[in-house]
Amino acid sequence: MKEKKLVIFIDSGDTLVDESTEIRKVPDGVVYEAQFIPGAEETLLELKKRGYPLVLVADGLKESFDRIYESRFLESPFRARAISEIVGERKPSPKMFQTAMDLMKLGPEEKSRIIMVGNNLARDIAGANRFGIRSVLMAWSPRYSMTPKTEEEQPDYRIEKPEELLELAEKIEQEISQ
Ligand SMILES: [Mg+2]
Repeated sequence: MKEKKLVIFIDSGDTLVDESTEIRKVPDGVVYEAQFIPGAEETLLELKKRGYPLVLVADGLKESFDRIYESRFLESPFRARAISEIVGERKPSPKMFQTAMDLMKLGPEEKSRIIMVGNNLARDIAGANRFGIRSVLMAWSPRYSMTPKTEEEQPDYRIEKPEELLELAEKIEQEISQ
């Protein structure tokens, strides 16, 4: 499979896994179990199969993401991971997105190749918009408002469920490959 040009940065909670199913360990707060949103696991694996580089850009503890993703699959679905515990800052900090770019060895002129997919308007969407990459709102979650309060929270694209990411990715891939 030929590597795609589009690089997909993606959030975890309520974008890939259902936050209401997270089981946390007391007292350290590590999530040791969480269920995927319907269709999310299949979408993640299909995107990987189609050659899209996937990068986890998520707030939380490294051990949580190791347990949710790395222990579940034989091979990590992610090419790289920018995790707030390691980065030292949380989204919408530009440091989270910059770390993801650095790990993928992407230069500033390559921002047009990147989308950030997330459910949180203030963190994922405003963060990506300010950083200068395209934003995709995953509007599946019933727990957060999906109505932008400011211009900065306005997503470039909006999807209602994980599977829609496949078609959107293909569309953007075509656009940027011309
Ligand atoms: Mg989230």
